[in-house]
Amino acid sequence: MLHLLITPDIILLVVRDSIQILQAQGYKITKPRKQVLKALEETQEPLSPYDIQRILRQQGKYLNHVTIYRILDLFRRLNLAHRVLSSGGFVKCALRDKQGCHRLMVCRCCGALQEFIDDKLCQHESELAQNSGFHTEYHLSESSGICSDCYKKQ
Ligand SMILES: [Zn+2]
Ligand SMILES: [Zn+2]
Repeated sequence: MLHLLITPDIILLVVRDSIQILQAQGYKITKPRKQVLKALEETQEPLSPYDIQRILRQQGKYLNHVTIYRILDLFRRLNLAHRVLSSGGFVKCALRDKQGCHRLMVCRCCGALQEFIDDKLCQHESELAQNSGFHTEYHLSESSGICSDCYKKQ
């Protein structure tokens, strides 16, 4: 059974939008940043810098793809967007200002994305690395497979 709790955390999640997160981190809200944010917000599928360039061009706006890539990289570092490892495209973050390592489950049939955070997984990964004398800065991983809806249809 799905049980939804409205905690202050969830309200915060809804109220705070990407622009406020950017401002809170000391970043200026430039026109290009706003345009890329909007393109990501309005699209469900992962977008490459070239996809974003095309979307903006259709709206009569022009940004070169290097600028777009830099903006996407900033968003990625701030957890506002994520890079889908299997496709290389970028998607907006579904968990917003939640701390930690955001990971994706990607359905190879319908492309549905599910995002999650698991502190224990992160801890385990870092410990594993530490045993080899490796100092982890961040984790990159993704699960590829079949979502529950597609699995039922098989
Ligand atoms: Zn996220
Ligand atoms: Zn699916």
